[in-house]
Amino acid sequence: MKKIDVAVVGSGIGGSLFAKLNKNKNLKLFEKDSNLGGCASTFKRYGHHFNAGATTFVGYENNHVLKEIFDEVDFVPNISKSDVAFRTIQNGQIVDRIKDFDLFLENLNKVYFHENNYKFWKKIKEIDEKFWQLKNVYFSKYSLKSYLNTSYFIFELLKTFGTDLLKSADGFINSELPNISKEYKTFINAQLLITLQTTSENATLLSMSLGLAYPFHDVFYANKGMGNIFDEMLKDVDVHKKEEILKIIRRTDGYELISSKDSYFAKNIVLNSTIFDSKKLFDDKNIVKYYDNYDFSDQSAFVIYLVINSNKEFLNHYQILLDENITNCISNSFFISVAKKDDEKLAKNGLSVTVSTHTKAKYWNDLKKNDVQEYEKQKEITQNEILNELKNSLDLKDDEITLSFSGTSSSFNNYINRINCGGKAINFSTVTQLPSAKTPFEGLYNVGDTVFAGQGWPGVALGVKVLHRDFNGKC
Ligand SMILES: Cc1cc2nc3c(=O)[nH]c(=O)nc-3n(C[C@H](O)[C@H](O)[C@H](O)COP(=O)(O)OP(=O)(O)OC[C@H]3O[C@@H](n4cnc5c(N)ncnc54)[C@H](O)[C@@H]3O)c2cc1C
Repeated sequence: MKKIDVAVVGSGIGGSLFAKLNKNKNLKLFEKDSNLGGCASTFKRYGHHFNAGATTFVGYENNHVLKEIFDEVDFVPNISKSDVAFRTIQNGQIVDRIKDFDLFLENLNKVYFHENNYKFWKKIKEIDEKFWQLKNVYFSKYSLKSYLNTSYFIFELLKTFGTDLLKSADGFINSELPNISKEYKTFINAQLLITLQTTSENATLLSMSLGLAYPFHDVFYANKGMGNIFDEMLKDVDVHKKEEILKIIRRTDGYELISSKDSYFAKNIVLNSTIFDSKKLFDDKNIVKYYDNYDFSDQSAFVIYLVINSNKEFLNHYQILLDENITNCISNSFFISVAKKDDEKLAKNGLSVTVSTHTKAKYWNDLKKNDVQEYEKQKEITQNEILNELKNSLDLKDDEITLSFSGTSSSFNNYINRINCGGKAINFSTVTQLPSAKTPFEGLYNVGDTVFAGQGWPGVALGVKVLHRDFNGKC
């Protein structure tokens, strides 16, 4: 049995950033799939490359944790700034989410005029800016030091935000944007759904601000696909691709890992599997009981992959807002990411496009298990409905889309061992159930978007920073 100090299980954003930061230890990174990056990977099918899920790269700026981590490991990702973070289209009306605040507001007022728009968005921007300047962002449990440092962070939050910390998103919208139109509320909620995995109903003012303000930051396009960042970044890390960890046995001084290829003994394990799926790896009753504490978050993505052959000019990202929810989905919007024309990988023989919206996770997974024909039928219905709206919005003809296929929670499960996407939104009622990277078990940690601080590059990177600090005894 091979002995190692650290086994990182999974090469998603969390596992990869942590492994890179700790590459000088006796560390191995195991990834079950042939592609690195999990939800942020890039895969090849029918001769074309597609981003599996994540397409926008945010948080790569000074004083932000993601840039801080990349600088620490001396890695520069191959990315290009997008002038427009994304374009929203609702009944033919366009609002571009751009970094320039005044220009955005001018744009917004043409479509969703409200006399308090300036006040509302200024506050959103200010809260977001203050958050990213906090010095003590930290959340962890299971030791006195961890609780003390968490209290210190809560104290800093209270000092910085005062009573704003206790405000709900809907409460703030109702007080600042009274009589907001249904369309405007859809514009806000569609953005919150992609950033927070929830709408204003279940968000706080703070989380809504972070969710709505991301286009005021630099937003980047990942050249050669998001997966390229992982391929390049992990070149000097001991990565075991296509090696799934099947079982983990707790021993007195560490953990025995049984993989699809070998067996290992590791003093420490960092699981990048979700908090909901991690228990499947263990027989130890106490560990299973620990993971059972966390209620499943039944949300996932329906994703369509396209190849477009067209002479038209496209932006990198669009969000299409509809009046009604899409069939089999829990959203009335979808997000489109189009490859840049000069991308040598994603624009080879046509533009690679990733389209995604929100669905229930169990619905598709259960349907696939119980009735494959019905699963395929419903998938086609949802795909066609989205494609019709997409063609209308981007003014595309049938023959300009030369390839299309879609994936559900069941597809995510096949490739990256998870049916849900994203963690639970952090609000007043969920904050006490929030999992930290540290577990009650010596040497066992979780990292990724189902533990603090949540999803996407910035959220997972914050979690990695806290874990890195805990792991190396710096807290
Ligand atoms: C459709 C969609 C669009 C998104 N768009 C964006 C976006 O534009 N920008 C953004 O910042 N974020 C976006 N996100 C969110 C972001 O992709 C995720 O929050 C993030 O990638 C999750 O990272 P993670 O660290 O939790 O790891 P995951 O992505 O969950 O990866 C975990 C990895 O662990 C591996 N693994 C699991 N179990 C085992 C095992 N037993 N053995 C070996 N390997 C294992 C899996 O195969 C996988 O590769 C999007 C998500 C989705 C689903």
